[in-house]
Amino acid sequence: MTMRRTHHTPVTDPVTPAAVLLPEAVGYAESAPARSGTSGRLAPIPATYRAAQVILWGPAGAWAHDTFSELNAQYFANAIPHAGIAWGLTPHGHLLGYTHRIDGRITLHSALLDPHSNAWGMWSRLGERCARDVLLHEMIHAFLLSRDECPDHNARPWCREVERLALALGLGVVHAAPVKARRINGRVVKRPLDGHLTQKALGAFPHSLRPVGYYESANNRMRIRL
Ligand SMILES: [Zn+2]
Repeated sequence: MTMRRTHHTPVTDPVTPAAVLLPEAVGYAESAPARSGTSGRLAPIPATYRAAQVILWGPAGAWAHDTFSELNAQYFANAIPHAGIAWGLTPHGHLLGYTHRIDGRITLHSALLDPHSNAWGMWSRLGERCARDVLLHEMIHAFLLSRDECPDHNARPWCREVERLALALGLGVVHAAPVKARRINGRVVKRPLDGHLTQKALGAFPHSLRPVGYYESANNRMRIRL
């Protein structure tokens, strides 16, 4: 028996591009809580974001939206407002992901799912599993921003989330505290407290706590052409 194939990508909320781009056609959730720094602006409903992302980036757009929703439910009690996830180039100094400090929108580097070179020397690690951890990292920033907490790596709120999420991710008990300059044996040094994560490990969470080979050994090294 031959199966008829269509060229349509399954979308849970199919809308035409025009409907997404016209503001009056966009659905707004009356009950959506206003995000900080947005002057009470109502947030578009998540399904609208998904449809927009599918139109812009196809399967990678759907992946980003669905993975965000899954991680948001599993690790943040759905507290992170949807602010869209863009695929593209990240600003200088932000290797694979970036979270806008004002509106919380996340940008993921296209090379995560569609690498073209080994410029970063991490070709073998790229793929869905690595992209998922980059997204989770950026979601911590977005979570802290939505709570009007300091989103920086070397700060108390970030350290609290690292300790909480390390447990939730099954990475064990870790101790995290901002790394500050301290006087040790008469010399001022910037060193973590005993038994605490280094500043580098804080900034590279959760990647820094994954076992060696975690990304390389992923069964589903899904890569999506962007
Ligand atoms: Zn970061």
